[in-house]
Amino acid sequence: MAETKKTHVAVLPSPGMGHLNPLVEFAKRLVSLHNISLTFIIPTAGPPSKAQKSTLDSLPASIDHVFLPPVNLTDVHAKIETLISLTVVRSLPSLRDVLKSLTEKTHLVSLVVDLFGTDAFDVAREFNVSPYIFFTSTAMALSLFFYLPELDEKVSGEYRDLPEPVKIPGCIPIAGKELLDPVQDRKNDAYKCVLHHTKRYRLADGIMVNSFNDLETGAIKALQAKEPGKPPVYPVGPLVNMDPSTKADEAGCLTWLDRQPDGSVLYVSFGSGGTLSYNQTVELALGLEMSAHRFLWVVKSPNEVANITFFDKANATFFSVNSEKDPSDFLPKGFLERTKGRGLVVSSWAPQAQALSHSSTGGFLTHCGWNSTLESVANGVPLITWPLYAEQKMNAVMLTEDIKVALRPKANENGLVSRNEIARVVRALMEGEDGKKVRYRMNDLKEAAANVLSHDGSSTKALAEVVRKWQNN
Ligand code: UDP
Repeated sequence: MAETKKTHVAVLPSPGMGHLNPLVEFAKRLVSLHNISLTFIIPTAGPPSKAQKSTLDSLPASIDHVFLPPVNLTDVHAKIETLISLTVVRSLPSLRDVLKSLTEKTHLVSLVVDLFGTDAFDVAREFNVSPYIFFTSTAMALSLFFYLPELDEKVSGEYRDLPEPVKIPGCIPIAGKELLDPVQDRKNDAYKCVLHHTKRYRLADGIMVNSFNDLETGAIKALQAKEPGKPPVYPVGPLVNMDPSTKADEAGCLTWLDRQPDGSVLYVSFGSGGTLSYNQTVELALGLEMSAHRFLWVVKSPNEVANITFFDKANATFFSVNSEKDPSDFLPKGFLERTKGRGLVVSSWAPQAQALSHSSTGGFLTHCGWNSTLESVANGVPLITWPLYAEQKMNAVMLTEDIKVALRPKANENGLVSRNEIARVVRALMEGEDGKKVRYRMNDLKEAAANVLSHDGSSTKALAEVVRKWQNN
């Protein structure tokens, strides 16, 4: 009976592991610090993935989950943002059923959605449940989201053609062409979809963002400036997986790292979906070789070879990488032999959080996905930025020019980053003066990250304030 009195929260993640993972960390923190129970309500467009199931099955008993019946998206030909949104919209009737049953069985106080889940707000209101957003990306992207409706009115034409950089409140100016992908084509449905959500952000009772004051001071200050009709914003991050227990490590990354000197290895990875062209993969291999540094490279088949889809209609799954080839099929001839011992190449997947927390790891060449970035910050590992999609170009600008924890290689006139440039930037990070500066700065941020999550830290207090509001509702 006592269980039914516990404060209960429903969490609705957008499809895709990149959204689920930070929400899982958020849920664990609510359970451990505030004795709250939760239910993940997962919209789907096909059978749940193995990764989703194993993540959810491994959670403590007070975190339950339910997969909503899969919606049909076969009639839609659209970009990822539209597909994610539509999955949520088409799941609303079954969400209503689950919320109804939760309100009968538990003391349900809030429905927390992420980036593109705002269409669920109305259903939450029907049950007198407070709608919140957990923003899994940067405070900078959130600031852009609040600014976008105004920008949309002010600017005609494409943002990428603007002669001046865009001044997102509280942020370093960003060239229009570096803004997030879905705003690059204003005629596309994906843009309209993002604009639709940004307008609905004001309907939330509160927004939590996976960031912290020392990391994004300006953006957070701008977001917290009082303005009528704007919900309160709570920086509660960095919430990342810091569990030291070894996840599946079939390729032996961690045992290989155990044998390397402290701080000597550059970890190279482009997230769950990022791939390079064949030519770029070859240049990266030869650049790593020329740098003469140690590296652990999570390599994916080049995008001309692999079938990379953000939404795979055949399996109705989000983010799938098919046709993975053996790396020796596409890496330069002799590369694996020549770098043997000082380089480890693993196919597709590595236990990244554990690799970044390993003492041998001294740098991270990253696609700048926000979870990857936060994992690096939490472990004090400086970065080389290699943005590919979503909001990653904005993140790269912020990390190199504003926060100054990263170095960014330059592409040549053909858009290719040459082997010489890669070797130069790897050496600069691992042994140069510029590398030292970004490493110091990253170490400061690591300390700050630990502080904000400590008992009296700002992120801990911000989360406590949200919980207080829920409980007083
Ligand atoms: N990840 C991992 N092993 C890999 C690639 C990715 O564990 O080989 C994890 C990584 O630690 C992070 C998430 O997957 O938590 C990727 O999220 P991010 O936001 O960085 O990028 P996305 O994959 O969403 O583009």
